[in-house]
Amino acid sequence: MALRKILVQGDETLNKRCRPVTVFDGRLRQLVDDMVETLMQSGGAGLAAPQVGVLRRVVVVLDVNKEPEEVVVLINPEVIDRRGSERMLEGCLSVPNVWGYVTRPTWAKIRAQDMNGNWFEREGEGVVAQCFCHESEHLEGHLFTEKVEEFVDPEDVQKA
Ligand code: ZN
Repeated sequence: MALRKILVQGDETLNKRCRPVTVFDGRLRQLVDDMVETLMQSGGAGLAAPQVGVLRRVVVVLDVNKEPEEVVVLINPEVIDRRGSERMLEGCLSVPNVWGYVTRPTWAKIRAQDMNGNWFEREGEGVVAQCFCHESEHLEGHLFTEKVEEFVDPEDVQKA
């Protein structure tokens, strides 16, 4: 496993649409392993492949609603259902020191493939639903800052 460099806003890779994963091989496993390690090191809640410079539809999300926390690997993910809405504070590893409020569903269901190519569905509430949506948007080349309704001073976030 190896840490990968996280690209920051301004790198055009982050604005590109990612291609689906079609080959479920050792190279994919290596990418996922590296992404998990990079996520855990970063202290973030989720990471999408374009953030490490790979234009493929791969996402890792930390399910903080599980005890202990569980890393969920999502290949070719698609949010297929969402309920409710809530204004939530949000940030991104690729947009350091920027925080803002975004309206997100309170519950979301995602459909994705695992590392063997098997399809599954998973539900998430609160920050996990937020993360499903945020990471899926990365795969379309979008950053959360496009959706921010109100930016928040990073110093106020630290105190919260
Ligand atoms: Zn992000």
